[in-house]
Amino acid sequence: MGLDTFLTDEQIEMRDLARRIAEEKIKPVAAMYDEKQEFPWPIVKVFAQTDMFRTFIPKEYGGLGGGILELAIVTEELSRGCGGIALAFAGTALGAYPMILFGTEEQKKKYLPAVAAGEKLCAFALTEPEAGSDAGSQRTTAKKVKGGYILNGTKQWITNGGEAKIYTVIAVTNPARGSRGISAFIVEEGYEGFGYGKKEDKMGIRASSTRELSFNDCFVPEENIIGRDGAGFAVAMRTLDRTRPGVAAQAVGIAQAAFELAVDYSRERVQFGKPISSFQAIQFMLADMGTQIEAARSLIYQAARYIDAGNKDINKYSAMSKLFASDMAMKVTIDAVQVLGGYGYMKDYPAEKLMRDAKITQIYEGTNQIQRLVIATSLIRESAKKK
Ligand SMILES: Cc1cc2nc3c(=O)[nH]c(=O)nc-3n(C[C@H](O)[C@H](O)[C@H](O)COP(=O)(O)OP(=O)(O)OC[C@H]3O[C@@H](n4cnc5c(N)ncnc54)[C@H](O)[C@@H]3O)c2cc1C
Repeated sequence: MGLDTFLTDEQIEMRDLARRIAEEKIKPVAAMYDEKQEFPWPIVKVFAQTDMFRTFIPKEYGGLGGGILELAIVTEELSRGCGGIALAFAGTALGAYPMILFGTEEQKKKYLPAVAAGEKLCAFALTEPEAGSDAGSQRTTAKKVKGGYILNGTKQWITNGGEAKIYTVIAVTNPARGSRGISAFIVEEGYEGFGYGKKEDKMGIRASSTRELSFNDCFVPEENIIGRDGAGFAVAMRTLDRTRPGVAAQAVGIAQAAFELAVDYSRERVQFGKPISSFQAIQFMLADMGTQIEAARSLIYQAARYIDAGNKDINKYSAMSKLFASDMAMKVTIDAVQVLGGYGYMKDYPAEKLMRDAKITQIYEGTNQIQRLVIATSLIRESAKKK
């Protein structure tokens, strides 16, 4: 399955292990977690036992030293089992990445080994009720005091919220400086003044926890700042540049699951005395689905390789992969429901869940309108430079 030709033996091994976990451990319980909207701790334990969390952690801190490509490969496979359950893994990567990219040696030594071992999950807290796409308009404040900062404010819709032990939290340290007056902090569960609020009831990825975080005079020690004071917006944006191919991979995993379901179903469902796979209308839908999935996966691999090679101008390719893969996943999952006809609409088959799960990939880590803005800005800047 898939154009695997250019993966290393190690990457294929990682992919096959993640695929086995998805098949044997995730798929059998995906509908149950979706229905109950419960956090999948037993599966997270499996991720830990099988070293999944080590994928993206540098070797010095107990990881396997994989890059964005390895992160994408594993995320896709786990998402093929369930996009929501996979998010316990991918959301932890998002929460840990600011530290991996910009953390001090002390911070990395203190926090990353437990993340690699799967003992502690991470989360990334940027969004607020008034700061969604306009992430620069943060209202959570971090006031400098002796030995640290005092945080006050609310973060909204935080993946792994309430389940993670380690949070990257973005807050304003100098309101007069706009996006240059924003800083990033490591906040641990249990810090005084840090609490959890509303847990969301969602359309899809229901096995993932999406929760409010509240900060009421929460003291965070100085050594927990990520990068320097005022660098928080850049920390957040550079992180998203690297994690968006992961959202794209989640989308491809969901689409792949929908595609396989549709192909299998079309061979079994008989109407007018023939399997529906013999009708050209169905065949053309399947052909388009398969082609679009391969195209999205190829773009993700290329974007990930470009990032892993150390290039700096990555935001365009990262945004392109997220935009293309998530729009593709939405289309493919809708078409999968169509191939299954009325059964696609019923909860007896996973098609409708895959369609609900796909939708979020067009929204979070920057909506697809925002991805288009990122891509267009980059294209126009490149054109201006040529003159
Ligand atoms: C399930 C879930 C999990 C999430 N997890 C996290 C998380 O872990 N951490 C975190 O920090 N955030 C998280 N988010 C927040 C997510 O990143 C935001 O929802 C997203 O960035 C969009 O912000 P918004 O919802 O406020 O939409 P808005 O910004 O209010 O946008 C509303 C609409 O307007 C459009 N729009 C806005 N501005 C423009 C513009 N300039 N040009 C064109 N169109 C525009 C948008 O594309 C969208 O269609 C999560 C959200 C959800 C739903």
